[in-house]
Amino acid sequence: MRAAVIADDRTLEVAEVKDPTPGQGELVLAVKGCGICGSDLKVVEHLPIGYTLGHEFSGEVVAVGTDPVGHWNAGDAVCALPLVGCGSCRHCRDTLPVHCPHSEMIGTGVRPGAYAEYVTVSSAQTFRLPEGCGYDVGALVEPLAVGLHAVDTAGIAVGDNVLVVGAGPVGLAVALWCRHVGARSVVVSDPVAVRRESSADFGATGIIDPAAEELGPAFERLAGAPPDVVVEAVGKPGIIQTCIEAAAHRGRVAVVGICSGPDPIIPVFASLKELTMTFPVYYRHHDYAHSLAMIEQGRINPAPFITHTVDLDGLPEAFEAIKSPIDQCKVLVRP
Ligand SMILES: [Zn+2]
Ligand SMILES: [Zn+2]
Repeated sequence: MRAAVIADDRTLEVAEVKDPTPGQGELVLAVKGCGICGSDLKVVEHLPIGYTLGHEFSGEVVAVGTDPVGHWNAGDAVCALPLVGCGSCRHCRDTLPVHCPHSEMIGTGVRPGAYAEYVTVSSAQTFRLPEGCGYDVGALVEPLAVGLHAVDTAGIAVGDNVLVVGAGPVGLAVALWCRHVGARSVVVSDPVAVRRESSADFGATGIIDPAAEELGPAFERLAGAPPDVVVEAVGKPGIIQTCIEAAAHRGRVAVVGICSGPDPIIPVFASLKELTMTFPVYYRHHDYAHSLAMIEQGRINPAPFITHTVDLDGLPEAFEAIKSPIDQCKVLVRP
């Protein structure tokens, strides 16, 4: 099959690779859609040459391994969590397979990802796409689940004033779910005008240009109170301290952005406000189920996330372009 793999110079190149066959409990999908994720731009620097990225995908079942969990047939339209857990440990049973000590990530580590014609997934982590949910939206379930898990973990609820720092796909998914759960104000901050302005499509009630205005005063001007919850969705050093300074006394800071370098904070700023900080990552199994149910019922509309689509041959160029995004939100690959 054809797949986009990591080249010697850490760009992507399309190459011929081995066709996958499903192991026990596994399914092989013909990939129909796969989003480019901001984290791909980071991990491409570290993963082996020849590896295939892509963890936000939908597809059609083409082969079913032995002893699958559930009933699957060729032709089923599905999406799947991009990981394979042991299925029997405390974390797998608690539907948090990401914490399974034997979990193998698809597209961000051990298992090959979905920047390819085919991808192998765990049948236990696979969901049928509901009626009316096409493959494009099916590929958005992963980033939606990231946002939902963050909102859930931060305890965002009816009446909360929420500041979302960063209007990339994760920040916008957080804004969408904040609106969905009944937050009073959902204010999104981003230095790039097109990104922050697009947040209105996902339920933002206000926007801030952090280059022009300090976050705390700007939020109070818009919402009439400081933010009960500040969601960090950037993942660059310095932002967590900014979030701490903007949060209300006894407020919460949820760090969703992935930052793999040191990021100093001044803890006394958080102490004097008695802040609670959380570091949600990935999602539970049921974040996928809930996202799909809300899509099926028409209670969320994630379609505006997709701003660009490319085929496998167009992926290497699109991948480089998104390193300095202009107007891209989610770029979808249709292999
Ligand atoms: Zn992602
Ligand atoms: Zn496990």
